[in-house]
Amino acid sequence: MARVVVVGGGLGGLAAAARLAKLGHDVSLYESSPHLGGAVRDVTQDGFRWDAGPAAMTLPATVRDLFRKSGRPLERVLDLTPVTSPRRHVFADGTVLDLPVASRAGQRQALEEHLGPAAAASWEATVDGLTQTWELLRTQALEVPFGGARDLGIGGLRALGLPRSLRSFGRARLSDPRAVQILEYAALPEGSDPARAPAFTAVAAYVERTFGLWSCPGGFAGLARALGTRLAERGVAVRLGAEVVEVTTEVDRVTGVRLANGEEVAADVVVTDVDLRALTDTLLPRPPGPLRKQTRRIRLAPAAFPVLLGLRDSGGDPMPAETVLHGSPGSGDPALVVRAPEDPSAAPAGHRAVTVSVRGDLGGRDPVEVLAGRGLDLRSRITVRVEGPATSYGPRWRGAWRGLGVPTNRTAVRGLFVVGATAHPGPGVPYVFLGAAAVAEQVGKA
Ligand SMILES: Cc1cc2nc3c(=O)[nH]c(=O)nc-3n(C[C@H](O)[C@H](O)[C@H](O)COP(=O)(O)OP(=O)(O)OC[C@H]3O[C@@H](n4cnc5c(N)ncnc54)[C@H](O)[C@@H]3O)c2cc1C
Repeated sequence: MARVVVVGGGLGGLAAAARLAKLGHDVSLYESSPHLGGAVRDVTQDGFRWDAGPAAMTLPATVRDLFRKSGRPLERVLDLTPVTSPRRHVFADGTVLDLPVASRAGQRQALEEHLGPAAAASWEATVDGLTQTWELLRTQALEVPFGGARDLGIGGLRALGLPRSLRSFGRARLSDPRAVQILEYAALPEGSDPARAPAFTAVAAYVERTFGLWSCPGGFAGLARALGTRLAERGVAVRLGAEVVEVTTEVDRVTGVRLANGEEVAADVVVTDVDLRALTDTLLPRPPGPLRKQTRRIRLAPAAFPVLLGLRDSGGDPMPAETVLHGSPGSGDPALVVRAPEDPSAAPAGHRAVTVSVRGDLGGRDPVEVLAGRGLDLRSRITVRVEGPATSYGPRWRGAWRGLGVPTNRTAVRGLFVVGATAHPGPGVPYVFLGAAAVAEQVGKA
């Protein structure tokens, strides 16, 4: 049995702690803030609740696997529910397209009706054609411990014949520029540039269509709470308000951590779930050169400033769960995203809790005014307006073949592993869970 210390109680740290405890290790987790969940948090006011972190996820199997491999299965603890309402795309030319998220036939039909048969056929062929890319990524980089780009064989990806960037991929494969906008939206989170993201990120459109998009009733904070309960059941010692200020090492192996109050905790294995730039800049006194070099390459997506609205229902058609208002193709006008989760517990009766975010820079203009200018005027229905917290989704793509810059989960310091948004395979709820699973596999059974 190894003594394991997990630094940070975001989703990556919670998942790693749960898995390692189930494997029989003696696990303790130190979280500097007063609560678990990290980026997973909500904002509440006047009876409304908005998710200020993740609102929906793909690859629900990652959560199911985590719960099954750490104790009782997910179904006995929490419901993930599929997002069934189509995503509404509103284009600059006035076209409105309600695109089902997880139906091949439904996508074809909606695209045929609104963008025409050629656009529908090229979309279907493009998304179908990503099957091989998904299989390569899944089997060589996501569901197994990843040893670095050479493992995957950038050559392997190249052999798939993908062009360099997501943007060139979309333009080469899709006949309608509006379909390119749909692909880029599905493939990238806020803050990443399609011209600097590799073509293989298009696989997200395949993943979403195949495995669906899932939400967490009551918000993702419920998932963090369920993981907190799982840690208690597995006997993990959780300390809140406990900042780790140093990961201690001896020669080339980890020996434990030191807390801000001076306390030293010995460990055979340390798993950090912190921003890895902080790990190599401050927590680790002598970070291995390659790791330091790598973490310096990480670039976070620029901070986003969502606007949180409490809206009176209009009495007309209910708002879709997600509406994307695209700018004109090639104009640089950012897309605006309006999320209105279908969760009655998020708002008083007759109201919706709505989040407005901007994918890019509006040059100081008010997103609610810009929305009105693009035909979605919510102004008369607002009962509450809150400026949401500044958040960054995580590392962004730095160039078509330059990757996210995130290091592998096993480091060159023996016993030191890294998880979370700044470690392989990068940000996003399912990806952070995959990274934690890889760490548990590498540490192994007690
Ligand atoms: C606004 C926003 C929206 C998002 N939307 C989605 C979405 O819709 N779908 C999706 O899949 N993903 C989404 N994501 C991404 C996803 O939420 C994150 O990738 C994931 O939650 C990050 O988890 P993490 O393990 O990196 O931990 P983090 O959330 O980064 O948590 C790290 C924890 O470590 C603690 N910590 C840091 N330093 C120390 C220290 N020295 N000592 C002790 N504790 C420390 C912090 O307090 C924090 O609690 C979103 C993220 C954001 C910010």
